[in-house]
Amino acid sequence: MEKDMEVWKEEFQKRIQEKKPWHTWALSVDKEPPPHTLLPGCSQYQQCAFARFQCSLCSRHWASAQVCVLFHIHWSQQERKGQVQMSIFGQKCRKCPRAPFEVPEFTGENISRVLNNLVSYILKRCYREGFHSELPTIVEIPLEGPHDSVNCEACAQGICAKSRTGLSKTDNDEFSQYGSHTSLTSLFHSAQMPTQINLDPKVCGLLVCCLFIIIVVIIILALTVWS
Ligand SMILES: [Zn+2]
Ligand SMILES: [Zn+2]
Repeated sequence: MEKDMEVWKEEFQKRIQEKKPWHTWALSVDKEPPPHTLLPGCSQYQQCAFARFQCSLCSRHWASAQVCVLFHIHWSQQERKGQVQMSIFGQKCRKCPRAPFEVPEFTGENISRVLNNLVSYILKRCYREGFHSELPTIVEIPLEGPHDSVNCEACAQGICAKSRTGLSKTDNDEFSQYGSHTSLTSLFHSAQMPTQINLDPKVCGLLVCCLFIIIVVIIILALTVWS
């Protein structure tokens, strides 16, 4: 996790320095959730990203496109100084009753996308430059099913984009269809298993009976013709 955080910090520095080399910006990772009320000069920017999880108790894997990443941004124009506090919200394993909130794992490409969106937001919000566009993170595996709010840390705190219908700052409505915590292993299994047709045992018995009667009738007919 610590190593991952260094990646976020370094990548953010690279991007913001490219755009604003004479200004000081810093990104820190917040263990505590950000305050609900915003102080003057602060703004909040939220994204829903794709990430993978692993349960620390049963080692089960799953993925979600509804991983909440929240940025609390403070910008002082006078000092030309900006501070971004990042909070990443975890998810719990749905199979383990006492599972903790696990930390999501993002790919390098998805970290890049989230940070590009953040820098675009900062330029628009703090410098009134350009227009804010958002590139969604790459959903690496097909996900199905609704968002598992019960096991989502952001939902528990009432700040998940999914639970704040209408208040979301992101326009990523298309994520809602991918917002699931589908198990990776179950997905792989369903991909490898041939389609099975489940027949009722009663129907099977009836079919066997019919087949038997038809065969007997054919034999009787054949014997009658021969004789
Ligand atoms: Zn588990
Ligand atoms: Zn949620």
